[in-house]
Amino acid sequence: MRRVSGRVLVPDALGRYRPYRALWVREGRVAGLEPGEGRGEVVLPGFHDAHVHIWKVGQLLTDLLDLRGVRSLEELERMLRERDRLLPPGTWLLGRGWNEALLGGWPHRAFLDRVVPGRPVLLTRTCAHIHAVNSQALSLAGIGPDTPSPPGGEVRFAEGLLLERAYGLVERVLPRRTVADYRRYVLAGARHLLAQGITSALEAGADPELLEAYRSLDREGLLPLRVSVLAIRRPDGAETTYPLPEPYRSERLLIAGIKLFADGGLSGASAAVSRPYQGVGGLGVLRLRAEEVFELALAAHQRGLFVATHAIGDVAIREVLRGYARLYQEAPRPIRHRLEHFGLPGPKELALARALGVWAVPQPIFLKELRENFLRYLPEGFLARCYNLGRMERAGLALAFSSDAPVVQEVSPLAGAVAASRLPLLGRGLPLERALFLYTQPEASGFPPMRLWPGHPADLVVYSADPFTHPEEARVVRVEVDGVAVYTA
Ligand SMILES: [Zn+2]
Repeated sequence: MRRVSGRVLVPDALGRYRPYRALWVREGRVAGLEPGEGRGEVVLPGFHDAHVHIWKVGQLLTDLLDLRGVRSLEELERMLRERDRLLPPGTWLLGRGWNEALLGGWPHRAFLDRVVPGRPVLLTRTCAHIHAVNSQALSLAGIGPDTPSPPGGEVRFAEGLLLERAYGLVERVLPRRTVADYRRYVLAGARHLLAQGITSALEAGADPELLEAYRSLDREGLLPLRVSVLAIRRPDGAETTYPLPEPYRSERLLIAGIKLFADGGLSGASAAVSRPYQGVGGLGVLRLRAEEVFELALAAHQRGLFVATHAIGDVAIREVLRGYARLYQEAPRPIRHRLEHFGLPGPKELALARALGVWAVPQPIFLKELRENFLRYLPEGFLARCYNLGRMERAGLALAFSSDAPVVQEVSPLAGAVAASRLPLLGRGLPLERALFLYTQPEASGFPPMRLWPGHPADLVVYSADPFTHPEEARVVRVEVDGVAVYTA
């Protein structure tokens, strides 16, 4: 038995953090809690990031040019030239994370051709739904001025922009990622998450190679945190549908869900909305109607897999909820499906989501990092419903918070909770304690509860100071999974 002392804060059944002065760990599990007010370092249950792209975080930290936070086209130009010099001839220059609202302009084809004339370039926007390419990339992909836009996507040849499913045209000619690449990315991403106190997470979309990377890491005992992986059903650009994944469950790895995409992103004005975007106009891109959601989800639902569908605009959210409603009606099963992002639900969508008992998985940190885009593009009158976490909470939804990194830079659940409490676009935020508790919902990803109650795994995060009273000063100093330190500052 080992005693972990300090100010131990463990949420009760209602999510109120109760103080203890120590917890006891035996064989990786919590054996008991010692009542009383402890002092010193603060111990909390490890966080669950309910929607994150672990491998992409790792890829960005290793192989890609990280463009998040780049604040001008001049800065972007410098970074591209430097990377261009370092890469072997003929290889792709791949980057990710730009945001035109920060750049003060778009990285159009002419710009990329001028800065990097000698190799194909593909730069993914922060939302991952829009890609900027140069002429070499377009010609390798066989895209010309007359290439038609594929269904659910748009090719803007003159500007060198590929929206939504048009990415599939260029994806086909990119260097293939191997299982070994994926393993490297997952491990790099996992280290980054652990350093923020995240001890379990949901990998929000995996192709068959990534699934194999996860299975092999798990078999070799190399996964340092718990991961629930969503299998992608219908990849961009391919007409094929991937087979349903074989369900898999171990202490560290869970394959129990599938991912669908019903629309694009809000920050790039491609989420499917009922009123036109300001400035850029249009109603976004609806990728799935209720019927298609039903048809794609049915086989998974019948096999006991949960379905997690990306839906941001009110139109997309409505279609997905209708598809789910039909599933529950025609094939009743006690599975809680999920809506990823859930950016702009109206009152009817909130009520239907509540009635169906589905999980809503929003990203509070968007209120900070994508704020400029929201304020610029949001349809008239939609400010009050945009990631309105207080409204979701009052509507009685099952909520699980997440980062969606690397769409955002900040992975820290504490930073997300601070955004949820202080940065609502309108109205009141959530209490910090409540917001942080909503980063402790592994059930949303098919895991059992992990909240440091006796019998639960000893997955914990230790802060240097109280994150509730001093969120700015509190630093993660140690993280344990199954009672073993996996991160130490
Ligand atoms: Zn995502």
